[in-house]
Amino acid sequence: MVDIKSVGVIGAGQMGGGIAQVCALGGYEVLLHDVSREKIEAGINNIQANMARLVSRGTIEASAMEAAVGRIRAADELQAVGAADLAIEAATENEEVKKNIFRALGPHLSDRTLLASNTSSISITRLASVTDRPERFIGLHFMNPVPRMKLVEIIRGIATDAGTYETAVTFARSLGKTTANAEDFPAFIVNRILVPMINEAIYTLYEGVGTVDAIDTALKLGANHPMGPLELGDFIGLDTVLSIMNVLYEGLADSKYRPCPLLTKYVEAGWLGKKVGRGFYDYRGEVPVPTR
Ligand code: NAD
Repeated sequence: MVDIKSVGVIGAGQMGGGIAQVCALGGYEVLLHDVSREKIEAGINNIQANMARLVSRGTIEASAMEAAVGRIRAADELQAVGAADLAIEAATENEEVKKNIFRALGPHLSDRTLLASNTSSISITRLASVTDRPERFIGLHFMNPVPRMKLVEIIRGIATDAGTYETAVTFARSLGKTTANAEDFPAFIVNRILVPMINEAIYTLYEGVGTVDAIDTALKLGANHPMGPLELGDFIGLDTVLSIMNVLYEGLADSKYRPCPLLTKYVEAGWLGKKVGRGFYDYRGEVPVPTR
């Protein structure tokens, strides 16, 4: 097992920011990287705002926030992340983007660094294959929002060794998370089940079976889901939902996973959900308003 003290996080969006936050609060030194200084700073500002909310609710002490913020450093260059004990990639859900990150990081990795991806659906074995250490590569799939969600899905690639697996489980537990093991097949467990349901909700909208409001109300009150499926799609990010459907469709070669054309249309419009202010709901006003 590797003794993890520092964590590099690549991608400072919703997930990378959340992972950086829980790691810093968990006592780890964090190096946060994204494509630009602006993106990294936006990520750090989000983390500070989230932690400030936790302080105002009495969940954490102000001193814990101050210490955690002090443990997060911006890494303008990807190579700086190579010095961390564990590097977690949480960039956009696109296989080429992720492979290019691991290829670029390769020459700068210290010998002991373990590699992880937070991918929602892409093969861990394939991502690991572009690195020099597939035996020390693992899927650490945090859920959104990371500080609130208890689960981390752990996915071993074909070559992942026992020490890496034990280290990953110990690390996730040290953050207060519970782990579930999933085999390395498209979208693993959570998204294999959840994302086709969201896609089906979009088909239900597309075919005119119900409005946005009717579909979400029906699933919230009729199936006791805390969020409606369209609201959940917006929350995840519709680009991520579409990527996961494509990984399922191509990876399992089964037409039941075909992405709904309406989902594609929203993504093409740039209506990616809550993170950009508009998706199946428009979030730019006081209350979310359905866009159909
Ligand atoms: P996001 O769009 O909020 O953030 C992605 C970030 O990656 C952006 O800040 C982008 O600038 C950055 N990025 C893109 N290319 C990069 C590169 N070459 N180097 C460094 N950074 C780069 O997306 P997100 O929701 O945070 O998703 C990130 C990952 O987490 C994806 O793999 C996604 O599937 C996974 N994930 C998402 C959720 C969810 O609910 N959104 C849940 C679990 C896992």
